[in-house]
Amino acid sequence: HGKRSQRGSVVLFSREHEDQIRALGTIEQALRTADLERELSLSFQPILDVRAGRVVCFEALARWNSPTLGLVPPDRFIPIAERSGSIGDITRVLLAQALACLKTWPRDIGISFNLSAYDICAAEGAMRLIAAVNASGVDPRRVDFEITETAMAFDFNQARRTVGALKALGCKISLDDFGTGYSSLSYVHTLPLDRVKVDRSFVANIENDEVSHKIVRTIVGLCDDMNLECIVEGVETPNQFAIVQGMHCEMAQGYLFSKPMPAAEVSAYLARRPERQAGVA
Ligand code: C2E
Ligand code: MG
Ligand code: MG
Ligand code: MG
Repeated sequence: HGKRSQRGSVVLFSREHEDQIRALGTIEQALRTADLERELSLSFQPILDVRAGRVVCFEALARWNSPTLGLVPPDRFIPIAERSGSIGDITRVLLAQALACLKTWPRDIGISFNLSAYDICAAEGAMRLIAAVNASGVDPRRVDFEITETAMAFDFNQARRTVGALKALGCKISLDDFGTGYSSLSYVHTLPLDRVKVDRSFVANIENDEVSHKIVRTIVGLCDDMNLECIVEGVETPNQFAIVQGMHCEMAQGYLFSKPMPAAEVSAYLARRPERQAGVA
């Protein structure tokens, strides 16, 4: 909302906007001088196969502990890193960490890694991903790259080439945050996807909002028809999980099973047979 200044011209930004813009500048500056290898880490959140009743993979989620700003959530710093050009280095550091962790896990457990626009829409970004997977020596079939419609929008033709190259390597591709974009169905149709992740905003309302319920049911059905695995994100309560199970959704992820955990906790978590406790099996 614009405000009138004393001289009568319209000021475009309110006080809160000014504060926000200053905060963005601060994050951008802290990123520029950050020691990425030390300050960035990954948290891992399990994804469960509902029918088989076991953990199939962990999603790697970026954490930035800045000495000046403290913990900055990925939703805040990733978009800024995209614009300021540091995202390439961030992806390189995080993917190396992710692949190193994967090597210490049981061979039937995979990893999901979130890609940003640069990774998907710049040829250089895509080449770096392939080089990192090859250099790590892990079985590429254990690696699932999560892409979003928003990240593909910058250059869809390059995005399609990137996805094709990752598939040729043997990696899986998931379409993340499904249902929140603007042309979801055409992406499902044109890209060689393996999985679709239903955005957690729908699951959050699945008990009370009939439309959300219908949307999840429709996406699960669409995936079934197109031979795509469906992952429902953001399952927080046993009742939400029961509803999703009733729809015959393949996989689920959410606080009900576990919040994202540090790498050091993954082995102990797997040893506890978490699916039994969550009532999946
Ligand atoms: P996303 O890929 O959709 O990841 C899921 C987000 O939902 C994570 O937030 C996760 O902690 C949260 N979540 C999972 N289960 C629940 C639940 O039951 N309830 C609620 N309320 N939340 C749940 P997080 O870790 O803050 O990540 C936010 C977003 O930041 C991610 O959304 C992803 O878009 C982006 N991001 C995270 N790590 C990376 C990364 O390494 N690279 C890139 N490019 N983006 C990343
Ligand atoms: Mg994701
Ligand atoms: Mg998601
Ligand atoms: Mg999301």
